[in-house]
Amino acid sequence: MCKKLDGIKKRVKIAAERVGRNPSEIKIVAVSKKKPVSQIKELYECGQRLFGENYIQEAIKKIEGLGSLKDISWHFIGHLQRNKAKFAVRYFDWIETVDSIRLARTLNKKANDIGKRVNILLQVNIGREESKSGFLEEEVLKAINAISELDNLNLKGLMTIPPKAATVEGSRKWFKKMAELRNRLRETFSYLSLEELSMGMSNDFEVAIEEGATIVRIGTALFGPRD
Ligand SMILES: *Cc1c(COP(=O)(O)O)cnc(C)c1O
Repeated sequence: MCKKLDGIKKRVKIAAERVGRNPSEIKIVAVSKKKPVSQIKELYECGQRLFGENYIQEAIKKIEGLGSLKDISWHFIGHLQRNKAKFAVRYFDWIETVDSIRLARTLNKKANDIGKRVNILLQVNIGREESKSGFLEEEVLKAINAISELDNLNLKGLMTIPPKAATVEGSRKWFKKMAELRNRLRETFSYLSLEELSMGMSNDFEVAIEEGATIVRIGTALFGPRD
């Protein structure tokens, strides 16, 4: 498993250097959904510290099972229902999939209840797909205005899952659009640090990095296929 991680790190480095970026500005989140605690431990032993989970119930069991492992940073990357907000802020350091102002307000309240500050990303439905959650491009500005007021949330940037593309290159235009959106928002909200752009998964992370991703979410390429 360390070999796989090293391989991914090498590919991240090559993709970053291809476009003159510093590889150290790119974080790899290991997506461990549907994978057992034993495999998370194994990857932790290889030095991996950022892990992503999609389902609250499954994540709680695993995070508690791994309680003894120090300085893991957990990223929530699934669709989050408001009635699970309390658990999301308790167990996760990052919530990448904030897709409504209402959800943000609930997260803020629950984080305040336990005296915690949680990093969040706004999920953007860049392909305007019915099947996906997330803010539409034109809704993001208003959302940031509302969400940046919430004291217990630390708004760090944007996240997206682009439409399925027939080829890896097919995803590029969506990644480009996301980077442009993030850059525009950064100018508007220069007092916030909207530096993060979470995009790219096992099959397209190199293209995402070429277009500016700072967080890539890798499942299959590290843990093998899920069934
Ligand atoms: C499952 C998942 C991933 C990882 O996908 P792979 O193709 O296995 O790398 C990344 N991001 C999100 C939001 C996911 O749900």
